[in-house]
Amino acid sequence: MKSSAPASITFRLRRLITASLCLCAPVVIAGCQQPHGDALDRLLIGEVMMHSEFAANLRTLAMPGGRLTGTPNAELAGQFVADKLRAYGLQNVHFEPFEMSCWTVRETRVTLLTDPPRVLEGAVALARTIATPPEGVTAELTDLGEGTEEQFAAGAAELPGRFVLTRDTHQHRGDRLRWARERGAVGLVVMSDPNHEPVIGNGHRTPRPEPGVVIRHDEDLLERLKNGEHPRLNIYLDTDNWDCRPNNVVAELPGRGPLAREIVILCAHLDSWHLAEGAMDNGSGSAVILETARALARAGEQPRRTIRFIWFMGEEQMLEGSEAYVRAHADELDRVVAVVNVDMPGSPRRFGVFGHHEIEPFLRSLSANLAGYELDAEIGAWSGDGSDHAPFMKQGVCTLSLGGELGPGVKGYHTAGDTYDSVDRRGTVQSAAVLAVVVRHLADVPERPTRRLPPAEPDNAK
Ligand SMILES: [Zn+2]
Repeated sequence: MKSSAPASITFRLRRLITASLCLCAPVVIAGCQQPHGDALDRLLIGEVMMHSEFAANLRTLAMPGGRLTGTPNAELAGQFVADKLRAYGLQNVHFEPFEMSCWTVRETRVTLLTDPPRVLEGAVALARTIATPPEGVTAELTDLGEGTEEQFAAGAAELPGRFVLTRDTHQHRGDRLRWARERGAVGLVVMSDPNHEPVIGNGHRTPRPEPGVVIRHDEDLLERLKNGEHPRLNIYLDTDNWDCRPNNVVAELPGRGPLAREIVILCAHLDSWHLAEGAMDNGSGSAVILETARALARAGEQPRRTIRFIWFMGEEQMLEGSEAYVRAHADELDRVVAVVNVDMPGSPRRFGVFGHHEIEPFLRSLSANLAGYELDAEIGAWSGDGSDHAPFMKQGVCTLSLGGELGPGVKGYHTAGDTYDSVDRRGTVQSAAVLAVVVRHLADVPERPTRRLPPAEPDNAK
């Protein structure tokens, strides 16, 4: 997500201290200009800023080896979140299992068969390739540049029996793996930019044998290809593929009165990739909404609408958990007032909405109430279907998010650099405070500020 340029540190510190003083105090301190926000807002913000358990919870969730869906780490993380929710006093804490195809990898080894052979260090396998034979798969490599669909078509004659090399571009790697397979290639090798570590991602939608790997930038290899060589590569992958039944974690603060049937959802994906600790993506979002849940429960005010918190699994493997959830809860979607998805929140900057312009005035007034946080007055008009808001969005439900500043740690996204230390904890905890206020107002505003739109046409391209 795009974020605004950071203000000077002194200025930001001063604003933050002012914000904490003004908003933490249950009564407005003389001289502080904090209009609009009522006592409950100040209580929620104070609870997060003074008694946050965000960093401690993130420390637990940021596990070496990450929380890849279906693995023991992911299960432990789900149990940890559920236990915390019960301890915090949330209601209806439960698991909702769903079916998907899980995958882990024990070893990824890519060897350039020169004399002597050279192992390409740091290579990363794309998800859902099944294990290669013990001797790996050996083939010549052919270079298709950026790897556009046109380049695949133009180079088709060269592909049978070979690996395809492409650069790492925005084109989905799964598409390229599919085009390679359809033209008889035996696998895909994606080369990273010179200044970036290999980025993990999805390969096959269902388990398949053609390996897909991402390698570091390699001048020697490029030189050989430029000189017309077709260097031979051996790719060895030791993986597990199995049908699994992971759990989404769900909890509620039940509403009161006639609006209790309406639902405000605050969600984040709890799963991660396995290359590091899955701290920023999305241990940070998971710990933020856990902190929001804690503060709202602690405040003890029963909202008008029901607030539902969801930690999804399977997000990294193409949103499996949220898609399953939306299918299972199809008959409730009319009653979902809004879905607030939290994926790598960072330090809060601005609200963004996916299509539902009718909610903008509501969000603008909240941004003004939260003036101490320097949120942009402008509401982002966002698009994209790369996180768990998407299955709801496609069903016409109002989906929104809070965009933020991630700091230098963003370089670790989907790489071996996504560790606890890469998360700006002091900035990110503020997102929990802002979200507590947002969710509370969405749940309490007398007039529903959103309406459900007709579902989008099914996307046949996928
Ligand atoms: Zn994510």
